[in-house]
Amino acid sequence: MFFIEKHPIVVMLFRDVAQHFSRIGGVSSRLEMTKLLVDMLEELPADEIDKAIYLSQGVLGAGYKAAEIGLGENLMITAISKATGYGSKEVEALYKKKGDLGTVVEEIADKKKQKSLFTEQLSLGKVFANFEKIASSAGHGSQDLKIKLMAELFNSASPLEARYIARIPIGKMRLGIGDPTIMDGLAIIYSKEFLKNKAAAKEIEAGLKEKNETKRKKEFDLRVKQKIREIIEEKYNIHSDLGDIAKMLKKKGLKGIDEIEISTGVPIRPTLAERLPTAEEIAEKLGKCLVESKYDGFRLQVHKNGNDVVIFSRQSENVTHMFPEIVAAVKEQIKAKKAIFEGEALAYNEETQEYQPFQITIQRKRKYDIAEKSREMPLKLFAFDVMMVEERNVMPQPLSERRKILSGLISRGQTIELTKSIVTDSPKEIEKFFEASIEAGLEGIIAKDLNARYIAGARKFSWIKLKRSYRGELSDSVDVVIVGYYAGRGKRAEFGLGGLLTCVYDDSQDEFRSIAKIGTGMTEQHMKELHSMLSKERLAKKPTRVVSGLEPDHWCNPMHVIEVRADEITRSPVHTAGKTNAENGLALRFPRMVSFRNDKNPEQATTVKEIMAMYRKQKTVKVEEEK
Ligand code: ATP
Repeated sequence: MFFIEKHPIVVMLFRDVAQHFSRIGGVSSRLEMTKLLVDMLEELPADEIDKAIYLSQGVLGAGYKAAEIGLGENLMITAISKATGYGSKEVEALYKKKGDLGTVVEEIADKKKQKSLFTEQLSLGKVFANFEKIASSAGHGSQDLKIKLMAELFNSASPLEARYIARIPIGKMRLGIGDPTIMDGLAIIYSKEFLKNKAAAKEIEAGLKEKNETKRKKEFDLRVKQKIREIIEEKYNIHSDLGDIAKMLKKKGLKGIDEIEISTGVPIRPTLAERLPTAEEIAEKLGKCLVESKYDGFRLQVHKNGNDVVIFSRQSENVTHMFPEIVAAVKEQIKAKKAIFEGEALAYNEETQEYQPFQITIQRKRKYDIAEKSREMPLKLFAFDVMMVEERNVMPQPLSERRKILSGLISRGQTIELTKSIVTDSPKEIEKFFEASIEAGLEGIIAKDLNARYIAGARKFSWIKLKRSYRGELSDSVDVVIVGYYAGRGKRAEFGLGGLLTCVYDDSQDEFRSIAKIGTGMTEQHMKELHSMLSKERLAKKPTRVVSGLEPDHWCNPMHVIEVRADEITRSPVHTAGKTNAENGLALRFPRMVSFRNDKNPEQATTVKEIMAMYRKQKTVKVEEEK
């Protein structure tokens, strides 16, 4: 940190931030990573902590609003060449050899160090500001401006700083710091503040189980950390911007984040559904419940504030531009001035009164001619939940109430309507409704607990999905993250890809654990796409958050999710999903790729907990079938 004379302004130098990044990038376990992250977060001043958090993840802001820096590799090569005096061809040749422009510019800057005098010490603020200018420059002359802004940073950068200044704008930051790790780091830091509240500390003390003093101390520390982690995560679920949250914490301590409330324009993390294989089990679990059709379209979270309408996807991305007819309908059909509600949008053929399959709805995911497509095949939005009406947060209300509020919110119209639903506690009725939904071309049903509040960001039994079951196979597909690949042999060699090493997500540890090697199910088109996607994401060593006993030919950055079917889940000595000291891990038997899940990010893949639940379920079904 750098103090400007005795002035109270505290400026974080980018040199210090780069050093933290370098230490974090050098470790191989998440535990060490978290410790080093804590060091960095502690050092950052309140006004700048958000910037360092975003850059550590290679972005310029929270996911829902972050602008892409948008600098291609070719432009970066030109900028490096301009700043260092090396020819573009030379930089390109070095890039071919090293595979990473960060390393290239670091080495060049190191050689040049003797000759050049650093003109100014780069601050974190300056680097961030230049990146922001690059992100917002467009149109005529913007290329030159971008190169100039980059070259300006390189000219003042030390070799280590240059490494990150090059990596961030081209999307190659790859420290692998997920949001849960940042929340863990913040929880460790603010545990200390929590302990100043003697009454709260006493309450935790009273609930301890361990008797031995050392173990008791450990349990106490863990419980305090968990408590703070929960407080932070609760806010994160309604305001997914860890930069903002960290800033509030730094400024006002734990009291500060109490001030964070839901608001239009900031997405709420969606509630997710558990699965059960039969109507009987659903009825048994929920009793009297609301049963709705499961529509196979896009999940949309709609935010209305007067004439401003913003639509977020399931991943909390702003997708407003994709749905002009829904934006118009919200203005017409939603009675409140301010509202946040959710629904599933899908193509519907009014003439034949048929729902269209997902393949038709997905055509909306395009860059051009959206207006034309929206006239040709307008979507319908089936609303199923509501979180805010005017200034009132209705998330804590039971679903039965929210449903009434939602129904009162929508006026009659062509585009927005409530989902079809029944209220019942009878397995027969549920089954009948399920069959009717399938008949109508829908995916199945979702049964919902009438007494449950809206549980942001979690997969709980307040929602249970039942889809067409696939007898003899796993009753549902699994979404896995690709962490590496094997070079192909024989015919596969021509694609440069023989198989994939894949993982499920361990949300308690924020790690990816291996579950399957996948070599079948891919079409030629899949193979081509996979190779082009994955070769861009190659890494020299195992990514920090991946836990795997297997070594693929090439590791890659865990970011792509695919949907996979398998025959069953078995215990396996080679995979690490669900592995404990006492038991082998779990693996998918005969896994085959079904499709890309580009709509999911890696932390939204199937979790280890879900796999364990599916494994247990499968065992009980087998026992019953054998009876
Ligand atoms: P899947 O692959 O089964 O869609 P997922 O992981 O994408 O799973 P889940 O949380 O398991 O999502 O299933 C809930 C999803 O179903 C929601 O995200 C939403 O997009 C969709 N959906 C369709 N109809 C409804 C409905 N009536 N109520 C809630 N969600 C619905």
